Amino acid sequence: MGRKYEFNWSLLGDISEGRPNMGPMVRTEIYRLMQFCFRDVLEQNYGTETADKMFYEAGLLAGKQFYRNAMQKTVDFNAFIQSLQSALAAKGIGILRIETADYEQGKYVMSLSEDLDCSGLPDLDYEICVYDEGFFAGILESFTGEKFKVKEVDCWCTGDRTCRFVAEVSRE
Ligand SMILES: [Zn+2]
Repeated sequence: MGRKYEFNWSLLGDISEGRPNMGPMVRTEIYRLMQFCFRDVLEQNYGTETADKMFYEAGLLAGKQFYRNAMQKTVDFNAFIQSLQSALAAKGIGILRIETADYEQGKYVMSLSEDLDCSGLPDLDYEICVYDEGFFAGILESFTGEKFKVKEVDCWCTGDRTCRFVAEVSRE
C-alpha cells in the first residue's frame, strides 16, 4: 500500500504565493494550539508513552528535514553550531546556546531560550519539549552521521526559564 502522507519539504508550499497578504508568520499560540491538540488526541488514542514516542519521532524527522532544507552546509562543528543558531533565530524557533561540548564523548549540553514550544507555559512537574528532543537529535545525526539520544533536563514549565537538553551519541 502506498503512503499518503510521506513528508517532503515541498509540502510546505510556496508561502509568498499562497499568503500574499497574511505572510509567512502565524501567532505562537496557534502553532501551540495545533501541537497540544495533536498531543492530546495521540495520548487519548495510544497512551502517554506512545504519544511521546510519536512526538520524538516527528521531531527527529523534522530535524533531519530542517538540516537538509533550512541550514547552511558546513564542515566543522563550530560553523555547524553557528548555522544552527542563525537558522533557529531566523525561523523564530528560539535562542540556542551550547553550554558544554565534549567532542570525544559526543556529549553536548545546549539550551534553547524563548523556545517556541514551551516558553511561558504554566508550571508542570515534567519537561514537555519531546518534539524538540527529537528535533535536535535529527539535526545532530544529520551533521555527524551518528545517532544521538537527546533528553530535556530543564524546561520553562519545570520552573527554569530556558530549556536545557543533554545530547549524547549512541554508539552501541
Ligand atoms: Zn521546554
